[in-house]
Amino acid sequence: AKAQGGNAVCHYAAEMVAASVNRLELQADLRGAAGRDEFKLMYQPKLDLATGRMTGVEALVRWQHPRLGLLPPASFISLAEASGDIVEIGRWVLHAACHQLAAWRAAGQPALPIAINLSALQFADRNLANEIDGTLQRHGLPGNLLELEITESLVMKDPLHAAELLAAMRRIGLRISMDDFGTGYSSLAQLKRFPLDSVKIDRSFVQDIPHDANDTAIIKAIIAMGHALKLKIIAEGVENAEQLAFLQHHGCDEIQGFYFSKPMPVEQLYGFTRTHKDK
Ligand code: C2E
Ligand code: CA
Ligand code: CA
Ligand code: CA
Repeated sequence: AKAQGGNAVCHYAAEMVAASVNRLELQADLRGAAGRDEFKLMYQPKLDLATGRMTGVEALVRWQHPRLGLLPPASFISLAEASGDIVEIGRWVLHAACHQLAAWRAAGQPALPIAINLSALQFADRNLANEIDGTLQRHGLPGNLLELEITESLVMKDPLHAAELLAAMRRIGLRISMDDFGTGYSSLAQLKRFPLDSVKIDRSFVQDIPHDANDTAIIKAIIAMGHALKLKIIAEGVENAEQLAFLQHHGCDEIQGFYFSKPMPVEQLYGFTRTHKDK
């Protein structure tokens, strides 16, 4: 038994070493990856529950690693946040989204707003509003085609700075959305201090509706209070018809999730927009 235990520990230690070497390797590979254009945006539609129309898309980043293939954010965003590379990646995402918006405009496609996710390090940058403004101008875009998804922890870290930065972003015309709502420690009442357009109910609350009594109560409360604060409510992670029916019945404004569509490359989104409109 002792030998077995020793082996198990040994095996575990070896795995840990391998994992940390991987982490170090990945961290090294991440340096300059944005400059080498190794990222790719996938787009997931948001759907208006009243009209059935697509209201916009969320841009979700992927890393095309030269050896490991296409990596999801879970495998590199926290690394990038720790190393500071997230700032460069965030800039790449901003440029790529604006480039896409400009390409749609040039092709005479109907305006489809793109939402991008902001990380804490980007948000801490005092120059962020100027940078976004400059990027929009260089692409000849109005601010209302870009939406920023922020999180509770991001604004609660420095609420005064957050309120100022968000106000500056609103002056540019950007829409602002509170992502993963309900997972942090802030309340809806605290949210009224920030100039928001919408709130996204975190997937963890959507998962077990309509069966879980706690989750259904929480979602109903978020919708009611959110509407009282004049916020648009979006449910994320909608995977089936039952969830959709519950959300529709309780007045949720928009949904996003695999039930309607997975995040997809831009080429597929084109076809998707067309077929959806033709229906
Ligand atoms: P998020 O902002 O909450 O994005 C939603 C995530 O849920 C996406 O995962 C999406 O693919 C997934 N999802 C959407 N619908 C469903 C569904 O019906 N079921 C399930 N199970 N999942 C669904 P993804 O693309 O892996 O992104 C994970 C997280 O990585 C994002 O969570 C966001 O926090 C972060 N992220 C993604 N792109 C960026 C970026 O450009 N910058 C930063 N800073 N973070 C990003
Ligand atoms: Ca998001
Ligand atoms: Ca989210
Ligand atoms: Ca999330």
